[in-house]
Amino acid sequence: MKIAVLAVQGAFAEHIDKLKRLGVDCIELRQRADLEQDIDGLILPGGESTVQGKLLQDLQMLEPLRDRISRGLPVLGTCAGLILLARKISNDGAVWLGTLPVCVQRNAYGRQLGSFHTEAEVKGIGTVPMTFIRAPYVESLMETQDGEALARVDGRIVAVRYGNQIGTAFHPELDEDDRIHEMFLHLCRKNSAR
Ligand code: GLN
Repeated sequence: MKIAVLAVQGAFAEHIDKLKRLGVDCIELRQRADLEQDIDGLILPGGESTVQGKLLQDLQMLEPLRDRISRGLPVLGTCAGLILLARKISNDGAVWLGTLPVCVQRNAYGRQLGSFHTEAEVKGIGTVPMTFIRAPYVESLMETQDGEALARVDGRIVAVRYGNQIGTAFHPELDEDDRIHEMFLHLCRKNSAR
């Protein structure tokens, strides 16, 4: 199995470290040609969604990525990655990939809560540590079919799944716990076996 990690900006190295520790092959996605490789899943890391989105636009990678995700390539978007996937950003006019039918709010926790750490229940896997850094949250799910909120913190949705797309407002690559990545890898294995 091979996982591609978008590596144009942000916290991609931490995802790659975790995947390596889990014994999974990975490649860095830096340019459009990297997408020609056979991959079983895609990780969009945290960072700055506006910077990442513009780079993807300039590198002409938005359309091929959108296409692969729409055709079912499993994807895990964390923090800025969730924003890239979102169909709507309530406090920003941009839409980047737009494949995940949720409305998110960027930098949603205000200044004093810019970064924080907590724990919360994630559907199907139990209580998970969560690190938030200038994080978004999901304001609403825009479709009900084959989609669900996976986790909430203080009543706000911080993790979702729609089909093969998982989005988290927090950074699972920054904590020792591997269960979010394992949940994603399970999805990738199931999808590739079909
Ligand atoms: N605040 C960033 C954005 O809006 C996301 C922060 C992160 O990925 N840690 O894109």
